[in-house]
Amino acid sequence: MKYCYACGTELASKECDSEGLIPYCHTCETFRFPIFSTAISTAVLNKERTKVLLIRQHNMADYILLAGYVNRGESAEETLIREVKEEVGLDVGTYKYMRSLYFERSNTLMLNFVSVTHDETRMQINAEVDHAQWFAFDEARRVIMKGSMAESFLLTILEHVEAENARQLNS
Ligand SMILES: [Zn+2]
Repeated sequence: MKYCYACGTELASKECDSEGLIPYCHTCETFRFPIFSTAISTAVLNKERTKVLLIRQHNMADYILLAGYVNRGESAEETLIREVKEEVGLDVGTYKYMRSLYFERSNTLMLNFVSVTHDETRMQINAEVDHAQWFAFDEARRVIMKGSMAESFLLTILEHVEAENARQLNS
């Protein structure tokens, strides 16, 4: 952010208590902290943690993860549960935060979760989603959109879940 979003004045840098140098507008006499959107994305797993739900949207041929913007006043966890219910009609039983990536094109910080639903048969997709399908992990790796953030998140999740599943088999 180079200019003040309220008045257009070129921003300076000013020391802010314990935050270091922060962009400052001398016209508004206020600090201008960076503004960006926050969204969540999630890979939904079946109860046995052997399959993952991927979707297709906007007439694209490739599969992606479920995702949605965090509303003002909402926690990321609330967004996760709401979006999964809205888009595919499933209840999230358990979930775990994985990691985040910043998406330049839409100025969005994307928080990625892995979630588990206990009743995969209740799936009912809404109009925003073209198609939703359960995939075995290797198949999911093949059909996920190549080079996408969704692919990066998915690969981390599958590696993590496979390691956990293997530990449980050995114990
Ligand atoms: Zn200003």
